Amino acid sequence: MYSRLYLPGRRPVFWNCFGMRKTGTKVRGGKVSKSTRGTIVKKPHGVKIGTLNYEVEYCSPLTDGDSSQLLYGHHMHSAIKIKIASDYPEERQRETFVHECLHAVDSRYCNDKLTEDQIACLSNGLFDWIRANPEAIDWVKGK
Ligand SMILES: [Zn+2]
Repeated sequence: MYSRLYLPGRRPVFWNCFGMRKTGTKVRGGKVSKSTRGTIVKKPHGVKIGTLNYEVEYCSPLTDGDSSQLLYGHHMHSAIKIKIASDYPEERQRETFVHECLHAVDSRYCNDKLTEDQIACLSNGLFDWIRANPEAIDWVKGK
């Protein structure tokens, strides 16, 4: 099972940064960028969802099963893997990462009840909330 962020003929309206490329410093295994607090952060290569440790892989290009369509991201619950297309701007990759993680949360906690539109709405809202509230996130983490 995979999730598709790109729907034919329907460009998501919530991504307005298409074509803008952020540059970062190349390091072992990928680019790094600065967080909102100025610390250097690396792309995650793993993420824990419930008791599962998902592998996060960055691919270029990332296509669906029959290679007929380019994807921004791909959640594979049975393989415990999330794939992110690395040939898009970092901002898009971050949004996609949150989106695919929500698919994993949906699989783990909601029996895949959420629709693609619900995942898209929630992931966009969560993405904005995470970026706007780093202190609140620290508080939630208990740190
Ligand atoms: Zn999706």
